[in-house]
Amino acid sequence: MRAIRNAGSGEIIREVAAIIVENKAYLSEIDGKIGDGDHGINMAKGFDRAAQRIENDATTLDAAMQTLSDVLMSEIGGSMGPLYGMMFSDMADAIAGKEEIDAGAFADMLRAGLDGVRAIGSAEVGDKTLLDTFVPALEAFDGALAAGADFAAALEAMKTAAETGRDSTIDMVAKVGRSSRLGERSRGVVDPGAASCCLILQGLANGIEHRLELEG
Ligand code: ADP
Ligand code: MG
Repeated sequence: MRAIRNAGSGEIIREVAAIIVENKAYLSEIDGKIGDGDHGINMAKGFDRAAQRIENDATTLDAAMQTLSDVLMSEIGGSMGPLYGMMFSDMADAIAGKEEIDAGAFADMLRAGLDGVRAIGSAEVGDKTLLDTFVPALEAFDGALAAGADFAAALEAMKTAAETGRDSTIDMVAKVGRSSRLGERSRGVVDPGAASCCLILQGLANGIEHRLELEG
């Protein structure tokens, strides 16, 4: 299949939430090394609450993303509340009203989310943030499509690039956010937001790949 149905794909957000909850301790542990140790706790709280509010199996992907955004924006603190809140709201807007989501719509959705994060965070690639995962992941997805890959193959390329991007933050010094106060001491640890962004993108990709297979 070339596309997934929007209706019913809200379930993908519940799958992403389960992955975040599974990784709660890991995300807080790495945030404890260069931040205040709350990243896993806040992420798990927000994603779990949203998952419980996505009850209807017919929920669209955009409606589920909007629910997640609302929880993150209004109920969750830290940097990730507004950053991921904006990201999911802008992603939801990009696919709202679509019956199907194909590779082009998915790329547009990611780009809208990335623009949202950039608009409020004003960070750049190399600053040791979630952008160091997100930007190369989207580039890999776009690049794979341009080279003739189908949706599933482009998602595979995106997943690999997300991991490479996440790991690229290990050698970086944080330039923005709480961990930037550590200066050189922020080097040597993976950035928590880069790690959670990798989990989110991989969760989205796996959820879509699974549905492409089922419908194909
Ligand atoms: P806090 O630092 O307030 O405790 P979190 O622990 O929830 O917030 O999130 C920390 C993560 O947020 C960082 O690892 C980084 O990836 C991300 N982050 C912080 N500031 C920015 C920003 N301006 N732009 C993009 N991402 C950011
Ligand atoms: Mg923190």
